[in-house]
Amino acid sequence: MQIKSAEFIKGAARPEGYPSDNLPEIAFAGRSNVGKSSLINVLVNRRGLVRTSATPGRTQMLNFFSVNEQFTLVDLPGFGFAKVPLAVKKDWGIMARTYLENRANLKAVILLFDIRRVPRDEELQLLDWLEELDIPTIPVITKVDKVSRNRRGAQMRPILEATGLPQEAFSFFSALTREGREDILQRIEVALAC
Ligand code: GDP
Repeated sequence: MQIKSAEFIKGAARPEGYPSDNLPEIAFAGRSNVGKSSLINVLVNRRGLVRTSATPGRTQMLNFFSVNEQFTLVDLPGFGFAKVPLAVKKDWGIMARTYLENRANLKAVILLFDIRRVPRDEELQLLDWLEELDIPTIPVITKVDKVSRNRRGAQMRPILEATGLPQEAFSFFSALTREGREDILQRIEVALAC
C-alpha cells in the first residue's frame, strides 16, 4: 500500500465525538511506551504526526488520523502507567471497551507487545475482548532491534505462553530499522478489504 497522505482529524473520548464518516478504521492499542506512536509515524511516513504519551494525561482520548482519505487510524490511549489513579485506569477500560463494542466500521485492532516484556493483565484483557467481540487482531512485536535475531525465539516464549497465540500470528517491527513496515501495511490492506 502506498501512503499518499496522513492527517490528524480529531480526538474524542465518547462515541458522540467519533468522526461521523463511515470510513473503515484500524485501531492501535498497547501499553504506554510500547512504541505505538513510533509505529504509526513509521507506517504513514510522518515523523511527529502522533506524539508520544510520555505523560499520563488525565484527559485520555482516542485520536483519529485520516490516511489517503480512504481509511482512518485510531490511536487508543496507552494503558499501564504505574502511577495513574484507579479512576483513570477504569476510564481507560470503559473508553476502550465502548469504542470496541460500538464501532461498526472498525476492521481490525493492532495490538502491540514489547519484545522485552511479558504481557500483563491489560494486554490479555484486550485480547479476550477482541476475541469475544469477534474483532480481527493483528498482534505486533515492537522494538525487535533491541534483541538479536537468534535470541528472538527465546524472547518470544513468554509472550506466546501468555497470549496463547502461535509465533506466525505476530508481525515483527522496529521503528529504527523499519523492519516489518511492509508486512503490517499489507495486513492492514487485507483487513480493510474484509
Ligand atoms: P508509545 O508510548 O507507545 O507511543 O511509545 P513511543 O512510540 O513514544 O516510544 C517509546 C520509546 O521507545 C521512545 O523513546 C522511542 O524512541 C522508543 N522506541 C519506539 N519504538 C522503538 C523501536 O522500534 N526500537 C527502539 N530501539 N526504540 C523504540
